[in-house]
Parts: sequence; structure tokens; C-alpha cells
Amino acid sequence: MTGRAVVDVCVVGGGIVGLALGRELALRGRSVLVLESRRVGERSAANVAAGMLAPASEVDLSDSRLTEFALAAHAMYPEWCAALARESGLDAGFDPTGTLIVALHHDHLALLERLNEFQRERGLTAERLSAASARELEPCLAPGVIGALRTDDTQVDPRRAMRALVAAIAAAGGVLEDGAEVSALVRDGDTYALTVRHRESEATVHASQVVLAGGAWSARVALPAGLPSLPMRPVKGQVVRVRGERLIGHVVRTPDVYLVPRADGELVIGATMEEMGFDARSTAGMVEHLLREAQRVLPGIAELELTECGVGFRPALRDHLPAIGSLDGAGLFVATGHFRNGVELAPITAQLLADVMCEGRTDPLIAPFTPARFATVASA
Ligand SMILES: Cc1cc2nc3c(=O)[nH]c(=O)nc-3n(C[C@H](O)[C@H](O)[C@H](O)COP(=O)(O)OP(=O)(O)OC[C@H]3O[C@@H](n4cnc5c(N)ncnc54)[C@H](O)[C@@H]3O)c2cc1C
Repeated sequence: MTGRAVVDVCVVGGGIVGLALGRELALRGRSVLVLESRRVGERSAANVAAGMLAPASEVDLSDSRLTEFALAAHAMYPEWCAALARESGLDAGFDPTGTLIVALHHDHLALLERLNEFQRERGLTAERLSAASARELEPCLAPGVIGALRTDDTQVDPRRAMRALVAAIAAAGGVLEDGAEVSALVRDGDTYALTVRHRESEATVHASQVVLAGGAWSARVALPAGLPSLPMRPVKGQVVRVRGERLIGHVVRTPDVYLVPRADGELVIGATMEEMGFDARSTAGMVEHLLREAQRVLPGIAELELTECGVGFRPALRDHLPAIGSLDGAGLFVATGHFRNGVELAPITAQLLADVMCEGRTDPLIAPFTPARFATVASA
């Protein structure tokens, strides 16, 4: 990047949301520059994430408007991954096998029943399974399993998806610069001027439209006075990765832990939810907790190789809903706050925000997530 660059659209943040949006805009013929402060994946929450696409399993944790958005996201995922593979030549690791939510004792069973009620209320289907039927589907489950729910919730490998997105952006003519940190943005006539620290030098990028998609760091870019400030905080999540013989085909969850199997023998075990700011340490207690809970449902993991302990930061806004839309009523947009669901919601966020940016059309699905909801509080 030279001292001064002019582009049509600049996306700040090369996490899964920024990359999905960069691809979508480039496919629509826009000249796109995606700026990522580190190497892609180095500090993105998606690089740690399990990649569950789980509207049914998490319906009890979600606002109904978020469930509706997540269901639409879920429906478009297979075709989105197929298109991504055609454009990039890379497989994003989409796996439609499904999810088993398993009970190990009667408290779990009560939680499963409550979840199943929520699912029925919101028109979602899940199949109740006896312990024997659950073990028929997944023979390595612990003998202590006393019942299960089977849902159509699927999964994708976020690391592979991000690699495919990087290639797809380039194939569509977009540009991704890594090592480029945006520190500030001002209005400059018809454009926005962004201050960018790139390697050892500083540059200015001028863009007609800008999208802040910096995940948990989204509120750190200095903006012109008077704009809503996003009440963003990081919610720390720890996961453990093990590898070896493939013990399960479904994603397996209990109310205490989830296990997400990949085709290549990796198993992702997660995740903690911690209010610890940007504390990036893996801690012995939490790793022990995850492994213990995972072994209770799948004893065979004791024999697998421990390959990684990871930490990521979920971007959480005060109401735990995403912010998608214009921040200033003009060309400055945000796509952030996807909290526990950013992998699932990245494709639909990209598609519907691109509709707003390119056609001025706001789909009712994203209307509840307008960043303007934080303006009232700020001006009050
Ligand atoms: C443990 C864990 C498990 C999860 N599991 C799931 C799951 O199963 N399913 C699911 O859907 N979601 C899951 N999530 C949530 C998901 O990972 C996030 O919601 C998603 O990654 C958010 O995407 P993002 O692009 O907004 O942010 P990120 O993926 O965090 O990316 C933000 C990027 O922006 C860059 N950036 C920030 N500021 C700047 C700047 N000023 N200039 C340039 N670059 C900048 C950062 O370096 C980073 O690379 C999980 C998260 C965690 C932590």
C-alpha cells in the first residue's frame, strides 16, 4: 500500500464477516479493499470457533428475531459453500450430518425438554431419541447417556472457509491487505479518509463507502464526533482441539460442552464464556473442565492427541444482537456484534448488507439490527 490509495469500498477487518462481505461486494463489481491488522486468522474469533450452524440447538439462547435471521442463514449455507468452492477451488468443510444434543443425567434431560419446547414454539423440528437410538447413531457415546435430541443443525470449518474466502476475493478482483491496521476515520468531502498503519509506514485510504467489521475490536477505530458509539465488549472463549481416530460423525452437545468432528480427524471441544476482557491466556482450569466434560460424553477422546488450546474473543454488543447497517445515515457502515454466531451469520450478513450498500434496499430480516438503536442512548 502506498501513501495514498483511493477505492470504492473499504472493509475494515479481515475476520469471517469482513471477508464474506469483501467477496460479496467484489462479486457485485465493486472495487473492494479489505484491511486486516494482522495475518488473516491470527486473531479472528472465527479462527478459534467450532463452526456450528446451530439455530435449533441454541434457540433457547436467542432473541426470536435472531433465530429468524439464523434460520435464513442456515438455509443459504450449503449453496454459499458450493459457490465459494467454485470460485476459490477450496472446500469450506460444510458438513450436513446433523447434531445430537445428549443428556447424561436427569437435570440435562429437563434442559433438553425445555429446549424442545422452545423449538416447537418457534416451529423447529427435533427428533427425541432414546439412549439406545442415540448410541445406534453414535456407538462411541458413553454408556451413561440417558436420552437425546437430534436436530438438523450443521457445521462448517471456519479456518477452511476463511482460506476459501481469501482466494474468492482475489478471484473476484478484490484486494486484501494484511498487516494494515485502521486507527481513525474522518469525512473528507464525498469520501471517507482512513488512517492506516501498514507495516512500518502510515497511509491514507480514501473510500466512498466504509464498513467497520473488526469483530471485538470494532469500537476501537476513532470516528467523527456525534456518531453512535457501539457498546462492544469481548467475551472470551476457550476451546481445545484433539486429533486421531474419528469417534463421532454428528456434532455432539450436552448442556455443558460441545464436540465438533471434522472429516480429517480433528475434534473441536468447546467452549467457555468468560468476562475477562482481552485476556488471551489458555488456563489450566478451563482446559481441564472442557476435557472432563467431553470425556463424560465421549470417553474415547482420552486416547486422542491434544493438539491445541485456543482462545478467541466473541464480539458482544450490550443486547447481544449484531449491528448491521449504516452508522451515519450515509456511507459508513458496520457489520459486527455477531457474538456466538458470526460464522453462521457471515454469509447472510454479507448478502443483506451488500443489498443495502449497492441497492439501498434493507431486508426486514436485518432491520432489527440497525446500529441506530444505540444512537438514542448515546444522545440521551
Ligand atoms: C470459542 C468460540 C467458539 C465459537 N463458536 C462459534 C460457532 O460454533 N458458530 C458460530 O457461528 N460462531 C462461533 N463463534 C463466534 C464467531 O467466531 C464470531 O461471532 C465471529 O468470528 C465474528 O466475526 P468477525 O469477522 O466479526 O470478527 P473476527 O472473526 O474476530 O474478526 C475480526 C478481524 O478484524 C480485525 N481487525 C479488528 N480491528 C481492526 C482494525 N482497526 N484494522 C484492521 N483490522 C482490524 C481483527 O484482527 C480480526 O482479524 C465462536 C467464537 C468463539 C470465541
